[in-house]
Amino acid sequence: MSEVTNCPRCNALFMQNKFRDVCETCFKEDEKMYETVYRFLKMRENRAATMETIINQTGVDEELLYKWVKKGRIQTKLFPNLGYPCDRCAKIITRGKLCEGCTDEIKQDLQLHDANSDWKKKMSNQGAYYTMRDK
Ligand SMILES: [Zn+2]
Ligand SMILES: [Zn+2]
Repeated sequence: MSEVTNCPRCNALFMQNKFRDVCETCFKEDEKMYETVYRFLKMRENRAATMETIINQTGVDEELLYKWVKKGRIQTKLFPNLGYPCDRCAKIITRGKLCEGCTDEIKQDLQLHDANSDWKKKMSNQGAYYTMRDK
């Protein structure tokens, strides 16, 4: 599925699809940046580099780096110091969408819901209970 939308970075109109969430120009820039980061990471002495070092050394955008790690373009298996923020509390994680702490909290909340079915009914009428944290 694709639709015409504004590029979130430069505001140009472009066809959005599942592989691309920015316009052609920004996409090419991202790819160039990816090459730079990739070349940097390929050097043996940089294997243990932290996010901060990579950002400082390559000039990559923090968000972009998170995106690549999240999508698996940069593997945390190879680069153990890399990660991306938890959707809920922004703590750096390496898999899934939430950190362990948030996963536990949500699990506990769900158990609470189960214990009170009236409340549960009310909540489901109100729609989504968990909303995305504001950035
Ligand atoms: Zn753009
Ligand atoms: Zn969290």
